[in-house]
Amino acid sequence: MKIYVSIDMEGLWGVHSPDQLHAGEREHERTRHLMVDELNVVIKALFQHGATDVLVNDAHGSMDNVLIEKLDSRAALIGGSAKRYSMMAEIDQGYDGAVFIGYHPKASTQEGIFDHTYSGRVIRDVTVNDVSMSEAGLNARLAGHFGVPVMLVSGDNVVCDAMRDELGDVTTFAVKKTLSRTAARHLPRRDLEAGYGAAIERAMRHGGVMKTELTPVVGRIAFKESMMTDKPAQWSGVRRIDATTLEVTADDFASFYEAFLLMLTLAK
Ligand SMILES: [Zn+2]
Repeated sequence: MKIYVSIDMEGLWGVHSPDQLHAGEREHERTRHLMVDELNVVIKALFQHGATDVLVNDAHGSMDNVLIEKLDSRAALIGGSAKRYSMMAEIDQGYDGAVFIGYHPKASTQEGIFDHTYSGRVIRDVTVNDVSMSEAGLNARLAGHFGVPVMLVSGDNVVCDAMRDELGDVTTFAVKKTLSRTAARHLPRRDLEAGYGAAIERAMRHGGVMKTELTPVVGRIAFKESMMTDKPAQWSGVRRIDATTLEVTADDFASFYEAFLLMLTLAK
């Protein structure tokens, strides 16, 4: 089985402080070690339960966080940006399942660790066919467009709970309980391995959840300020709904996802 792993940082075990998230910040280097440690626990369990190939996509911030020299030598890694489909770079029909590690709740979630959707500074909300989506929800639909089911989502308890609404009966594993946007109660370290082991065993047996979207896809992006909306609003492919909201209609989900990423780039 070929498994695609997209790894973010905010929802990882041991992460709760803004000082941990970006290059140059006090605790970022430490977090890179936590990241590869958790990733290796996941990769080990994936191979134990039937994976034959694992591709990891570094999907956080500048996307060059994973310490490749410490990564399980059986896994391939996509590092860096810019890359087509961003957090889901190189996803295609060749995969049997997708796994989202270290994910976090969507923008404007109460008491969700580092709640945001793609860009905390720029985006207030993203809706697809009238349903508000987290990064996991959006990325799952892109995987679904290519016929790839989502096997597992891990992160804080809030994103895991939200998955029932956004994805249905997908396997989740909460590595921490969120107390506020920047505070969490982490599982004991020794429980990580057993927790991931059980979750991945279930996921591989269960087969994951394939999420596809009705077409055409009507997506709305609500930006935080009108200034951010002005540049992407110049494109004839979008309709401006109000000062801070743009709407785009796309033939399929992959085309919507591309348009969304372009708008985000213009808005920054
Ligand atoms: Zn992130």
